[in-house]
Amino acid sequence: MALIVQKFGGTSVGTVDRIQEVAKKIIKHQQQGNDLVIVLSAMSGETNRLLGLANQLNDQPKGRELDVLLSTGEQVTIALLCMALEQQNVEAISYTGNQVRILTDNTHNKARIIEIDDKKIRADLAQGRIVIVAGFQGCDEQGNITTLGRGGSDTTAVALAAALKAKECQIYTDVDGVYTTDPRVVSEARRLDRLTYEEMLEMASLGAKVLQIRSVEFASKYNVPLRVLSSFKDGGGTLISAEEPQMEQAVISGIAFNRDEAKLTVLGVPDHPGVATQILGPIARENIEVDMIIQNTAYDATTDFTFSVHRNDFQAALTIVQKTADKLGAKEVITDNKIAKVSLVGVGMRSHAGIANTMFETLADENINISMISTSEIKISVVVDEKDLDLAVRSLHTAFKLEQ
Ligand code: ADP
Ligand code: ASP
Ligand code: MG
Repeated sequence: MALIVQKFGGTSVGTVDRIQEVAKKIIKHQQQGNDLVIVLSAMSGETNRLLGLANQLNDQPKGRELDVLLSTGEQVTIALLCMALEQQNVEAISYTGNQVRILTDNTHNKARIIEIDDKKIRADLAQGRIVIVAGFQGCDEQGNITTLGRGGSDTTAVALAAALKAKECQIYTDVDGVYTTDPRVVSEARRLDRLTYEEMLEMASLGAKVLQIRSVEFASKYNVPLRVLSSFKDGGGTLISAEEPQMEQAVISGIAFNRDEAKLTVLGVPDHPGVATQILGPIARENIEVDMIIQNTAYDATTDFTFSVHRNDFQAALTIVQKTADKLGAKEVITDNKIAKVSLVGVGMRSHAGIANTMFETLADENINISMISTSEIKISVVVDEKDLDLAVRSLHTAFKLEQ
């Protein structure tokens, strides 16, 4: 018998009818001879609804209480699925994160999984039960409920698959795999049969929200084969795994983008040792994640220093950096919070020259201005005006013939 972990996302369990469909699918998979551990998200929109309720009463609720609230969404779906299965005379049992004991650290709202106690799950599987676990949640050493950050059910699933040494972790969602780019933006986007962990990690980090970044990190660390498939139609989906020598490599496997960026530039910073840490240190201490960083060569003993952050952190970053700029005697701080980032990703980039130039040429032909550029071994990212984003993604998709 093969053990498989299957996760169903919010839209897949969004209504009672859909939960019924999931139940049918699971019964079929069990009849094919698999041991199944199922991870569920909350019904689509539920986590946002709960956040909305919280914000009506408190604009900065404590992380602990927020987690008590947000974890309830997943508790509803696991119980309902269990009932649907029971109705079909299929034995199943549901567990919250706390009940399995998915132990996490105590960083509320974005906790990290430390350890999973697999005893109960194994015992239930041995009894022939289907085990249904609430995604997105765990508990800390003190027994406080924690949640794993938005999209965190993907990570619950992969972590369970790693702990149970499952044959595969299957992520059922509303698209039938990972595409060359978000199919909602480019209708010609093509489904990919395979991707390496490295490529998927870049895609997820650069904005492709089909998988939570941490789930891909986990899969890569523990070598869990990860497959993204549709809840609604049959098909092999996209397999994400370690690179194999015979894997045919496209130069570019996909285009990821992120609409929610903002940039801040400190003009006329004195060019002396320690400036970068003086600017970014206070930002880091406020737990604001910095994305791209650019510092130019100094020409008159001063330089310009630009960095980008998530748009939600823009105001906080601006307040901090304005203070630093005054302290450093910089000329001024200029900002733009309507920027977006487009990235080309592909392991084949390592061995191919000229990709960056084709990218810049394509954007120039569309009259799209690039305001920041950053590269790594397997990706090139550019920052453009938010209004140019869709055109940038579509024209790059065509220029690199990704639809073929
Ligand atoms: P779930 O609720 O099942 O977790 P998500 O909304 O988190 O589903 O993820 C699926 C969505 O990810 C798709 O509907 C699609 O719009 C989006 N997406 C973004 N980039 C990609 C991509 N490269 N391939 C497939 N889907 C993508
Ligand atoms: N329900 C949570 C969210 O909406 C977790 C998840 O669906 O993965 O972010
Ligand atoms: Mg998701």
